[in-house]
Amino acid sequence: MSTRHISGVLVAGTVAAAACGTPPAPAPTPAPSGPLVIAVVYPTLVPDSSGELGSAFTSGDSAFVFGSVTRPDAAVTVNGTPVDVAPTGAWLAWIPLPADTVAVIAVHARVAGQRDSLAFRAALPRRFVPPDSGVWIDTASLAPRGDVWIRPGEGVRLAVRATPGATLRVLYPDSSPAVALVPADTGEDRPWGELAFGTAERSGRPAAATRYTGWAVGSLGGDPGPVLGTTGTAPAMDSTFALVEAARDGDTLRVRWPLRVAVLAAADRPVAVVNDDTAGTGETDAILPGRPAPYGTYHWFFPNGTRAVVTGRFNDQVRLQLSQRSVAWVDGPDVQALPPGTPPPGGTTQAMRLRRDSGSVSLRVPLPGRIPFRVDEDGHRLVLTLYGVAANADWMQYGPEDPLVTRIAFEAAAEDETKVVVDLSRPVWGYRTRWVANDLILEIRRPPVVHPRRPLDGIVIAVDPGHPPAGATGPTGTYEGDVVLAVARAAVELFERAGAQVVLLRADTLPFGLVERTRAAEAVNAHLLISIHANALPDGVNPWVNSGTSVYYFHPRAVEFARHVNRALVRRFGFRDLGIGRGDLALARPTWMPAILTEGLFMMVPDQEAVLISPAGQRQYAEGLVDGAAAFLAAWARAR
Ligand SMILES: [Zn+2]
Repeated sequence: MSTRHISGVLVAGTVAAAACGTPPAPAPTPAPSGPLVIAVVYPTLVPDSSGELGSAFTSGDSAFVFGSVTRPDAAVTVNGTPVDVAPTGAWLAWIPLPADTVAVIAVHARVAGQRDSLAFRAALPRRFVPPDSGVWIDTASLAPRGDVWIRPGEGVRLAVRATPGATLRVLYPDSSPAVALVPADTGEDRPWGELAFGTAERSGRPAAATRYTGWAVGSLGGDPGPVLGTTGTAPAMDSTFALVEAARDGDTLRVRWPLRVAVLAAADRPVAVVNDDTAGTGETDAILPGRPAPYGTYHWFFPNGTRAVVTGRFNDQVRLQLSQRSVAWVDGPDVQALPPGTPPPGGTTQAMRLRRDSGSVSLRVPLPGRIPFRVDEDGHRLVLTLYGVAANADWMQYGPEDPLVTRIAFEAAAEDETKVVVDLSRPVWGYRTRWVANDLILEIRRPPVVHPRRPLDGIVIAVDPGHPPAGATGPTGTYEGDVVLAVARAAVELFERAGAQVVLLRADTLPFGLVERTRAAEAVNAHLLISIHANALPDGVNPWVNSGTSVYYFHPRAVEFARHVNRALVRRFGFRDLGIGRGDLALARPTWMPAILTEGLFMMVPDQEAVLISPAGQRQYAEGLVDGAAAFLAAWARAR
């Protein structure tokens, strides 16, 4: 069957506007003879004004450094420690960093009378070094900082690092009673990358006894102004800010806390509307993600036009009150206050009705306005949660009998929260929502017909080679975007041979946006979406013990898809099985089809890079994708 190369056609106008990381030039091909030259790929080296090479690490007490040499037979050391050189010339070092603000890294190589050296300085994140004696407070650890708006009766959790064994309290500028802070091990001192990707425990955490926490109720440290429309940039600290005091053995230290907490009276809570495109560019997904905590993971997806009351703010994160018991945090610049006097959204649901179409079944839910909602999936069931409205539907009309929807039910989950439960005869394959005036349409996709013995026959697969923009670079300078395009091309051939119809979402080396990719997959009604990547780690995580094969999903119905593909890739590659993971990734988030993002191997690890850049390795990657997709579909066909 034919391959439709739609990348670059759908997005001709937006390609140039996308943020673009230019792929680096590949390193010279290693040769058994010839000049010996060292290249460092990571960290990125930038010459300073005097021409000296410099760089920076963002976290950790150890760091990885990688690059290549033009002679694979060379002996290479990094800071005096020998490192292996792969047949490609690639090398990777995992080195301890000093307790300082700068590290000097020296790479030496020698072979047959030739030598090359490369040294650079890397800035290290500021680490607080407690003084040898006396009371101390690590002012960089004061959290939260900035401006916070809360409701009456709410509090703010305060945390700080200070001298072990001290007495800590927060002193208000007025005569309010001080807030005591108590020692607590909150686990917050561990770097994000280590928690997310580290499979082994590491030492190097600050002693737990140096962290103190407390709970401050009400306003604190001056008034930051109205909840929306203010910049959130705190002015210079003055006497209106609170003090934190540490005392031990008659020694006392006080510093100001750069925090202002305002209490938001009911009259000061604006009704706001979601709009992620105030400039009117039209180049957005018109969806604002809602998070359970400020800066947290995506949990709600609010279309532009959604209305809710604002009941809090944490710097640039705004809290929307969805119902009396539910809140969501969103990016502040993407919500605008409606004119004063705008009533909060609310009311009741009304009679609902199903509509049959060839590819889907749609449930129409008339509502009093564009209220916040959320769709959850659970096996054969979709649950639509409607916030801020009471359950009231005298009538639910099924229309002519349909094989997909078996039952619709209603649940008054709370006084102002309604759940509509849709039971299906098959597991959920996909769904999407849209507003038609104030009617919310939940469109439920009919699953594809899968032949158990030729499972890929007639299936439409969206194959997405990840990047550009951005993307990882391997030690020999290989760019992830090029490798995954080669894998995708091999996968297209194999999928088509198995009877599938393939849509290649990027067919050239131009940058292509994430929103455009998911839209393109949906526009052709792809049954499955696979985004192909090669992995890299954040600073501070040991690549030797934390590298291998993994596959990410976002929605529960893609778990088995991810598992089958991960299994097939592990079997092909034979590297470490890092397992599947739930990842908050744009290409794993589409709801219209099961979607996964594969991290076949690590770009940065020399022997894995060697597999990824070889045509045989790219073929293995493609075979794993096709095998995994076929196994998932076959299992799905059997499970009816
Ligand atoms: Zn990637």
